[in-house]
Amino acid sequence: MKQQPGSVSAQRAETLRQLTEKPLDLLIIGGGIVGSGIARDAAMRGLRVALVEQHDFAFGTSSRSSRLLHGGLRYLAQGRVGLVHEASVEKKVIHHIAPHLADPLPFLFPTYRGNRHWVLWQLKIGVKIYDLLCGGRNLGKSSWLTPRDLLRITPTLNIDGLNGAVRYYDGFTNDARLTIDTIRSATRAGGFALNYCRFKDASRKDVWQCELEDVLGGKNFTVQSRCVVNATGPWAEGLPHSRVKLRATKGVHLVIDRERVPVPETVVMSEGKRILFAIPWGERTILGTTDTDYHGSLDDVHADAEDIAYILKVTNQFFPKAGLKPADVISSWAGLRPLIANPNGKPSDISRSHEIRSPEPGWWDVAGGKLTTYRLMAEQTVDKIARYLAPSKNSLKPCRTMTEPLLPATEIAGLSSITPPDFTREKVQHFVVNEWACHLDDLMLRRTSWHYYFRQAPQFAAQAVEWMGELLGWSPETCQAELQRYARAGGQTNGASTAPSSPCAPVATQS
Ligand SMILES: Cc1cc2nc3c(=O)[nH]c(=O)nc-3n(C[C@H](O)[C@H](O)[C@H](O)COP(=O)(O)OP(=O)(O)OC[C@H]3O[C@@H](n4cnc5c(N)ncnc54)[C@H](O)[C@@H]3O)c2cc1C
Repeated sequence: MKQQPGSVSAQRAETLRQLTEKPLDLLIIGGGIVGSGIARDAAMRGLRVALVEQHDFAFGTSSRSSRLLHGGLRYLAQGRVGLVHEASVEKKVIHHIAPHLADPLPFLFPTYRGNRHWVLWQLKIGVKIYDLLCGGRNLGKSSWLTPRDLLRITPTLNIDGLNGAVRYYDGFTNDARLTIDTIRSATRAGGFALNYCRFKDASRKDVWQCELEDVLGGKNFTVQSRCVVNATGPWAEGLPHSRVKLRATKGVHLVIDRERVPVPETVVMSEGKRILFAIPWGERTILGTTDTDYHGSLDDVHADAEDIAYILKVTNQFFPKAGLKPADVISSWAGLRPLIANPNGKPSDISRSHEIRSPEPGWWDVAGGKLTTYRLMAEQTVDKIARYLAPSKNSLKPCRTMTEPLLPATEIAGLSSITPPDFTREKVQHFVVNEWACHLDDLMLRRTSWHYYFRQAPQFAAQAVEWMGELLGWSPETCQAELQRYARAGGQTNGASTAPSSPCAPVATQS
């Protein structure tokens, strides 16, 4: 089926019209996982709700995480039992509502003589407590391994001073897909969602008058809403009316070929008190992360040479035969943790808990937290909003996000998973027509992860820009500009290659 150029923009124009048609109950600013979760919950409870995102959905931290659904063994070591319990329960909830985006993932945590921060007998107790904190059975049962057991599983692991290991279980997801599917779920429940729509300012009379900018159309417009939620993650501090104080720290991940660091299960690599992961992802291994204070642009966060060198150094210590070099890196991503400010202490010591505050009537700042706890953050936020709106909304439905599947199986098959979908024109059409992909990088980075997974991603991009161009009526100049935009968005990756110079070199595709 061939989509007519213009029908996608007609869909967008219709959403814009509906946003301004009559006042909303709730306007959510920020299309990361937190804003998306709130939109889904609010729409399912019957509120008239809209979500606006200045860039693409999941542009921020929600496409740049470690992709883990976890309670956080590290937080248990810090004694944060409540936080671990909360997140451990939520990881199982996500496994229940979105099994396509929540694979059980075993972790092997080797310990070495000389590292007093991670001691085997303490970890053995820790993983048993970790299992118990899930509020039922964990995604797998923890166990202990001798050095010999461990080497049977990961023969290339460094054996110098190896004491043994523990095995424990968390979940593995695809953060951007979880966000997009949550938004799809929200719109199926009657919510509105608009990417490339920036919140500029607001004033409150009887209701909030919110000034928004349609970034694609270049026009400002006003939306009225009884309530507003600031769910802008690392941007939260800078939003007008916000009272959030954040300390942004940067975390970088690298993608390499799986055969270079062949881990059948995630390996935890300790570096003093810090831990990094080598996570199996299909035919690739994801390595990360870093945790350093960040003061640069929020809209342009990339891995730098120092980040890459640090991750490769730690990985080479654990897997000495790998001998990884920067040229082995297929792709990388870098994200900012929206941590609630604590100017003291190391970044990795700052709490990952969340806060929901209402500094003005009808306005909520929702900050901090984790990907794993997004659903709970959303439920707690919408509970507060429901109480605020109570006089006019006493017929609100109860929260159902804990049990209701995110999407029906027919909406998921072959389109949304942890590893990338096939590279076909049909898939590209789906992402453009049904999932709001407006730019080439929306498709390559966030809808599909093709950019991160494939060394030949620039060739895919050259083909995909043609297909998108047909669907969206792009001129050759626009196609060229899209390729350049994509090259900037992806950073210096795919083996440090650059984007192809012209549309559209033919590539082998699966149809
Ligand atoms: C390196 C790293 C690893 C992590 N790993 C994990 C993990 O494994 N598991 C886990 O549970 N958590 C993890 N986290 C934490 C998790 O990713 C974040 O807590 C979560 O993604 C934050 O989501 P958010 O919606 O609050 O923010 P974001 O995803 O950043 O979304 C905020 C959005 O608001 C938009 N916005 C800003 N200003 C405006 C405006 N004026 N108008 C409209 N839109 C606006 C932004 O463009 C952005 O898209 C990790 C974080 C990092 C950095």
